[in-house]
Amino acid sequence: MQPESLMMTHGYRPELSEGAVKPPIFQTSTFAFRTAEEGKAFFEIAYGLRDKNQDEELGLIYSRINNPNLEILENRLCLWDKADDCAVFESGMSAISTVLLEFLKPGDVLLFSSPTYGGTDHFIHHFLPAIGVESIAFRPSDTYADIAARVKEKGAEKRIKLVYLETPANPTGELIDIKMCRKLADEFGTESNPAYVAVDNTYMGPLWAHPMQHGADMVIYSATKYIGGHSDLIAGAVSGSADLMKRVRTLRTFLGNMASPHTCWLLLRSLETLKVRMSQQTENAQAVAAYLENHELVEKVYFLGNLRPGSRSHKIYREQYSAPGAMISFNIKGGEPEAFKFLNALKLVKLAVSLGSTESLAQHPATMTHAGVCPKMKAEMGITCSLVRISIGVENAKDLIWDMEQALEASRTVSEPNLRAVTV
Ligand SMILES: *Cc1c(COP(=O)(O)O)cnc(C)c1O
Repeated sequence: MQPESLMMTHGYRPELSEGAVKPPIFQTSTFAFRTAEEGKAFFEIAYGLRDKNQDEELGLIYSRINNPNLEILENRLCLWDKADDCAVFESGMSAISTVLLEFLKPGDVLLFSSPTYGGTDHFIHHFLPAIGVESIAFRPSDTYADIAARVKEKGAEKRIKLVYLETPANPTGELIDIKMCRKLADEFGTESNPAYVAVDNTYMGPLWAHPMQHGADMVIYSATKYIGGHSDLIAGAVSGSADLMKRVRTLRTFLGNMASPHTCWLLLRSLETLKVRMSQQTENAQAVAAYLENHELVEKVYFLGNLRPGSRSHKIYREQYSAPGAMISFNIKGGEPEAFKFLNALKLVKLAVSLGSTESLAQHPATMTHAGVCPKMKAEMGITCSLVRISIGVENAKDLIWDMEQALEASRTVSEPNLRAVTV
């Protein structure tokens, strides 16, 4: 069966919970063993003191190690990416920092795509150097040869241990070829000293892109976004092969950054509607993007549904994505004053950062999510003062277009001189 069918049943047996159709919240820190022998057996498995016997499962011990809500959620999340295992965290940043800490040791080098999420960027530039981990950035427009040359120039060929990418790149949606990143990892890693590929798939997943099918070893999510989808929780997830997930899971046990039973319960509810939400959001985004494309006060629209045929991103899109998702960025005619007028005039769409929720959200990357990016990088990344980013929700598309229309009209009233101040 398809994942959307299994989201209501997989991994849960009502007879173990008084027949409850939905998993109850297992709001407990610890679990009673039936016998001392059972407790001993569970710990032997949990601590890796011996291999599991055939059909033996790790029993419930303590909610930092395992909890029914966490386990059911992880089993269901695996289905979308066809992963062996998944670990859920208390935030997307927790998931990301745990992967970086597990796979990078002093002396190692991280190869990563830039721009990346602000929190990830901060961790790479301000935390990793302190533990002796270097990093080399590449841009979505860089070719295999560009990146390989940069690695060699820095004498890092033998020290690349992780290739980390975020695609589409936020906020302008350039795509990065996952297959190319796999090749880079294979070129610089060896069998005895491998380099892994991890993809932050928050924007497209787990529905519209499946990075593991294109060579990624691990897929990372901020589950705060589409997976949670209701702007009411913070969570993260990592999926991958059994051997790598064992390492991620073990570090999670000792960092203690797993999600709580209540957060997992909310996410289980969210997973039931994930496919319908993301499908509707994508359909709405296509309608809104088409409207914006033709508006005289809109200079340029960035949307995966509008990629130029023949462009690099378009080729990657056709090979590695199945739908354009629901993130739109666009340049409004003018600069910051016009962008702010537009944002302040929105009535249905909320002015807030974050994305992927049922309600549409709009923000101004240059002064909000990307405020910390230096001016030169901003210019390179197309983050101008006139750029607005919108995450499209499940509202009626006609109402969203009405809101765009009236807010664009409101942006017109900015005084004439400002209209000429198109500044970067
Ligand atoms: C939000 C986000 C994160 C961080 O996730 P949190 O749940 O806020 O910790 C990481 N990557 C991307 C692409 C995001 O959008």
